[in-house]
Amino acid sequence: MTKPYADKQIWFLTGSQGLYGEETVRQVADQSREVARLLDEAGDIPAPIVWKPVLTDSASIRRAMIEASADDSVLGVITWMHTFSPAKMWIAGLEALTKPLLHLHTQSNVELPWDTIDMDFMNLNQAAHGDREYGFILTRLSVARTTVVGHASSPAVRHRVGQWVRAAAGWNATHELRLVRFGDNMRNVAVTEGDKTEAEIRFGVSVNTWGVNELAAAVDAVDPAEVDTLVAQYEELYDVVPELRVGGARHESLRYAAAQEVALESFLTSVGAKAFTTTFEDLGALRQLPGLAVQRLMAKGYGFGAEGDWKTAVLIRAAKVMGAGLPGGASLMEDYTYDLVDGNERILGAHMLEICPTLTTTKPRVEIHALGIGGKEDPVRMVFNTDPGPAVVVAMSDLRDRFRLTANVVDVVEHPELPALPVARAVWKPRPDLATSAESWLTAGAAHHTVMTTAVGIEIWEMFAQIARTELLVIDENTTRRGFAEAVRWNAVYYRIAQGL
Ligand code: MN
Repeated sequence: MTKPYADKQIWFLTGSQGLYGEETVRQVADQSREVARLLDEAGDIPAPIVWKPVLTDSASIRRAMIEASADDSVLGVITWMHTFSPAKMWIAGLEALTKPLLHLHTQSNVELPWDTIDMDFMNLNQAAHGDREYGFILTRLSVARTTVVGHASSPAVRHRVGQWVRAAAGWNATHELRLVRFGDNMRNVAVTEGDKTEAEIRFGVSVNTWGVNELAAAVDAVDPAEVDTLVAQYEELYDVVPELRVGGARHESLRYAAAQEVALESFLTSVGAKAFTTTFEDLGALRQLPGLAVQRLMAKGYGFGAEGDWKTAVLIRAAKVMGAGLPGGASLMEDYTYDLVDGNERILGAHMLEICPTLTTTKPRVEIHALGIGGKEDPVRMVFNTDPGPAVVVAMSDLRDRFRLTANVVDVVEHPELPALPVARAVWKPRPDLATSAESWLTAGAAHHTVMTTAVGIEIWEMFAQIARTELLVIDENTTRRGFAEAVRWNAVYYRIAQGL
């Protein structure tokens, strides 16, 4: 199977020292190559693991870290101190490293050879303290990293390394990300505001605005033959209602939605953007609020935020990349309304139009309905239910001095039919329960827009936040009101101090 990030690489760096002689360093090289190979062949590690020659002095360590930092294909580096690698040798290299770091605390053998073990074996296989020396310097230098402990053949180790690779890919994606805002964020809304300069410093994302009429003109200029092709695809992929089909009374509306998809995608491609926002308050000459087009582009991997919400668009793009090749998907989501039946409290989430069909394995219906706001023609949209199963919702708020991510682990559940609701939706039970979840969410000042992902688990988000040195508050089955409120208070102090470090 091809790895989802086959065109990227993770460097595997092994630490040792010259003290043991050439023969030992040769054994270290053989064994570390084998560890790298075990990781590389693991199905759930989504990028190639590339072994690099053993590092035994400060200059070569610094050189390796500079090269890893300079190579755009390197998502991150895994480091392992096979023997004892005096950690002052790592200072210059770690200070030069700009990529995510995983500290793999492992050893070559699984079982100890009890009958034959001698001091040669002990000296060769001493990661148990070599990595402790290294962990000290990582902590002393405040290097953000993920630490994974265990043998490279262990499924749990491979799984965690794989999750970290995904988080590193998300980090890489936000650094490559250009985001197009068509219009500003919704008038008077607070939580969709944010510091775009800080976003570029923190996540690497470039957030800029284009006039929506540039897009409207591009929609009008789309080749009708391209629209024909896309409409035929819609009729094959989706359950298109008769009035929108070829020959139907409102087929022209579907054609316009298709032209929006073509124009949006080519516009985004022309400026190198993988994320965008729209706003119903600033549609210029667009005839419909883009619904189907946005849903289709999200399904192709674009980040999207409604009402100018570029911060959520960044999260969706990160989720798309981090979930590459995994079952499930990622979408804009909005906490909309509650089912407050005692003991079975649920959240009904949806949006005006823009929910991504990667959340369903069913065949979406394509429908057209009036939209109460925006004053434009009726927009075309896909309608479906989200597949039941575990999911995570993540929001980003700008607290003025920093960004805060808040995540809730939830369970998407089955629900009664919603025959009168003309939008795609998800119904979920938040962990640990609605009251604790919502109380914590509100205490955190977390947003009403989220990315909902059924592909990217909470551990990956935790690693992503750690790499980005960004606060992440997690609400899950272990959350208590008191514990959460305390975490919010402590974080207020910690992150303010950490900014100055
Ligand atoms: Mn909204």
